[in-house]
Amino acid sequence: MKTLGEGKTKIVLFDEETGSYFLKFKNSITAFNSQRKDELDEKGRINCEISYFLMKEVEKSGLPISYEKKVDDVTIKVKDLKMIPVEVVVRNIAYGSFLKRFTIKEGERLKQPIVEFFFKDDEKNDPQLTRELFEYFELANLDEVEKMKEYALKVNEILKEIFHKVKITLVDFKIEFGRDKAGNLLLADEIDPDSCRLWDFSGEMLDKERYRRGLGEVMEHYQEILKRLRKVPG
Ligand code: UDP
Repeated sequence: MKTLGEGKTKIVLFDEETGSYFLKFKNSITAFNSQRKDELDEKGRINCEISYFLMKEVEKSGLPISYEKKVDDVTIKVKDLKMIPVEVVVRNIAYGSFLKRFTIKEGERLKQPIVEFFFKDDEKNDPQLTRELFEYFELANLDEVEKMKEYALKVNEILKEIFHKVKITLVDFKIEFGRDKAGNLLLADEIDPDSCRLWDFSGEMLDKERYRRGLGEVMEHYQEILKRLRKVPG
């Protein structure tokens, strides 16, 4: 298998014989633009299973996704896409970078979900995008921006409902999109505790925020999310 790209937590592989693409989840975890980095046993396996389950739930609702099938504990066969270098964030509760930019109480429930776009550029700390900047840098046309927003809000509804069933509050999350050869937008990348803020109904943090804040027992909490999701009827 040829490595086409390696990110902080995942690798994209290409099988030259079959022409297939694969996404492989690593055990690494990073925070603060990779200034903090660790290897956590089982992380790849747990995030791969969570992400696969949640993506397939999204697909059931009629939204196109890049995932095809899980081929082993840490690897998913995916479609051939060109990724759009944009992070689409949906927020239900004010937290994280939102608090640095706006005067609002930490943990306040937003009157309606808010969608924000950020340009993926670690060196510039992922600047926020406007419609004008999308066009200027030719990242996506306005029709696509609107579609990504609509799509992200639908994903929010699907995920909120699933997590609610297992007594977890979806605070916020980040998704990414790619385009297939025909130019269709597909949901790609991952949906797991690295990319979502998830609070138990008691208020306990279950996601990567534990790692950012040095709260410890990161994998125990990821495992707890998986354990609960496994009980959701598939
Ligand atoms: N997020 C992510 N990758 C990033 C930045 C953010 O997955 O590079 C997720 C993060 O886990 C949270 C949501 O996007 O669920 C909103 O993050 P925020 O903008 O508050 O940034 P942060 O506080 O993580 O820097």
